[in-house]
Amino acid sequence: RDDRDELDALTRQVGRAGRALQEEIKRLERVESYRREFLGDVSHELRTPIFAIAGFAETLLDGALDDDRVRRRFVEKVLSNARRLETLTRDLSDISKLETGQLVLDRAAFDLAAVLADVVDGLEPAAAARGVGLAARPAPGLPPVVGDRDRVRQVLANLAENALKYNERGGSVELTARLRPTGEVRVAVVDDGIGIPADALPRLTDRFFRVDKSRSRAEGGTGLGLAIVKHLLEAHDQRLDVESRVGYGSTFSFALPAAAPPSAASDDAAEAG
Ligand code: ADP
Repeated sequence: RDDRDELDALTRQVGRAGRALQEEIKRLERVESYRREFLGDVSHELRTPIFAIAGFAETLLDGALDDDRVRRRFVEKVLSNARRLETLTRDLSDISKLETGQLVLDRAAFDLAAVLADVVDGLEPAAAARGVGLAARPAPGLPPVVGDRDRVRQVLANLAENALKYNERGGSVELTARLRPTGEVRVAVVDDGIGIPADALPRLTDRFFRVDKSRSRAEGGTGLGLAIVKHLLEAHDQRLDVESRVGYGSTFSFALPAAAPPSAASDDAAEAG
């Protein structure tokens, strides 16, 4: 009877190990197919600017160097494509860190209104160049929020940049934040730009997805911005919400927890100590 019990226990153990092994094999298959797809996407994205650079350089050597105006224009094209590769490699390194869970957040309470103002300051020249209005409008008396300030800034800069890029001259972009009754602060980037078709919304945060490839390219887009934003928010246990109507504009929003106000008890403790 003891032997039978032992055998039963052993059988169960082997069964568990087998299932664990199957799970692990499935996981590795997923990682492998992800890796293959990722490499395919990346080489596809790298090819365009590399071909462009090679093409312009070749044309220059083939005689365009002698023409003053053409020379300048082509060198500018080489430069802009090199910049594009620079952005692409930066975004790629971000996304691979995020997708393999290598990002460590540095969470603390911070002043969100200051970050909104900062992002607007940084994008002011781009907004002016496009003739699009850009403003930070945090609700007055906003409490501090908890998160990784630099990463939240990166999220907002990304969303605000998109709101400017996918807009028309005379349009406007607003960065808002307000405290909800739930104790969360809702942060939104609101634009009255070109909008996004409903059938594109579910794929918006997929890497390399763009509604209009040529427009994104012309704007220096990599198709990675929103994928990065999604991951950064997920790291904060938050998700990106999007509302949009073609021809009317888009609102991208997310929440952050408000920092707990210092309680009376801890004030006392601080005074006592
Ligand atoms: P990209 O580098 O192409 O801007 P993103 O990942 O940031 O890549 O955005 C993916 C796509 O989503 C964009 O190419 C664009 O088609 C669409 N998109 C993003 N933000 C907006 C917006 N505010 N208004 C309209 N379309 C947008």
